[in-house]
Amino acid sequence: MKIALIAMSGVRVRTEELAKLGVTLPGFVNRGKVVASLPSLGLLTVAGLTPGEHEVKYIEFDDLPPEGTPLERFDLVGISSFTARINAAYRLADRYRQMVVPVVLGGIHVSLRPDEAEAHADAIVVNGAEGAWPQLLKDFEAGQMKKRYIGATDQVFSPDLYSFPRFDLLKGRPYNRLTVQTSRGCPLNCEFCAASVRITKKFQQKPVELVINEMEAALKVAEHPFFELADDNTFVNKAWGKEFLKAVTPLKLHWFTETDISVADDEELLNLLAKSGCRQILVGLESPDPRALHGMNPNDWKARRQATYLESIRKIQSKGITVNGCFIVGLDTDTPETIKYIKDFVDESELIETQITVSTPFPGTPMWQRMKDAGRLLYSEYNDRCTLFDVNFQPVKMTVDELDQGIQWLFTNLYSEQEFLKRKRRYMDIVKNLEET
Ligand code: SF4
Repeated sequence: MKIALIAMSGVRVRTEELAKLGVTLPGFVNRGKVVASLPSLGLLTVAGLTPGEHEVKYIEFDDLPPEGTPLERFDLVGISSFTARINAAYRLADRYRQMVVPVVLGGIHVSLRPDEAEAHADAIVVNGAEGAWPQLLKDFEAGQMKKRYIGATDQVFSPDLYSFPRFDLLKGRPYNRLTVQTSRGCPLNCEFCAASVRITKKFQQKPVELVINEMEAALKVAEHPFFELADDNTFVNKAWGKEFLKAVTPLKLHWFTETDISVADDEELLNLLAKSGCRQILVGLESPDPRALHGMNPNDWKARRQATYLESIRKIQSKGITVNGCFIVGLDTDTPETIKYIKDFVDESELIETQITVSTPFPGTPMWQRMKDAGRLLYSEYNDRCTLFDVNFQPVKMTVDELDQGIQWLFTNLYSEQEFLKRKRRYMDIVKNLEET
């Protein structure tokens, strides 16, 4: 069989003012561009689960091919996308189905909204593809494909289920960043999170040896790639983290990952991290205001950690690893003053990079359910507005307009070239001191 695995990417901010700001503020667009240019590790994993007798083609669409443009024909098409581009993915699926090419849809959005996705597919895969895709292919070949397949939510890295991603499918393409996953899920379980935490039963970690094997395979398709670990929270297990860092150091890579602020608690881990080629960690600080953090996690983990934020950032950055601090605006206790407070906090914190996003009730998450029940959603359907920059709900202590204005103010005041250079110079002083000591 000839199978296409298609990633639909290319998110665009809907609010006009922000779209304009994006054009002029380099710090704002940079991270978004980086994320959009990463290959879909999920689909490479699906390819890895596909028996070798089938021909697999990995395709990325930044936009839908114009109506009337002929689409390449396949025996089966698998499409995955994130919420903001899922409507485009549905349109592509509809076009293939009009050509009588069967379509399978999968990914986190599809897992969270299976009934919606099912209307555009011959079959859907809910959760990860492990434990579902091989059976789907067998059924398809036998002419008995079902409407819905449920992937495994546990033990996904066990020998029975594990899939080695097909990095070889990326050969000859101009990627300078590649992704490898070391874990799935996150025990912090934030109410708003629409990441892999929603498709796993519990946090699962890949054996270090497998991660290193994958990195070595990825190194064969790109020259000196920068690695992004496609994890939600890499260093939940500090003992595993140390083992991984010792194993990755000899590869002499440069890499980035996402984790929580507790990495700062472990001096040995930080020293290993600094030696390992890690350039930056992205940490979801969410808010400098403890009231905003209250109730975010089932056990209030983030609210309890807030008092350590400044010191923890200092500790991590003193090792020469930058922290990309992420903040969400529009949380239920936020007022226009909170937005100014975020700027003050960034100034005080020595952060060089920050990621500001708008609180977003991704369809299917606990936050979405709560807002829906309270009648606070502004639109009944808003997949394509889940860009993390567009407001889709009624805030509690601000008007929608005040939130929109606040975001624009924050972007202008944090992401201008001048502000970025100011933060960069401050960080370079830290590095200089580091070299002198
Ligand atoms: S800490 Fe990050 S990855 Fe973990 S649940 Fe919260 S938002 Fe998701």
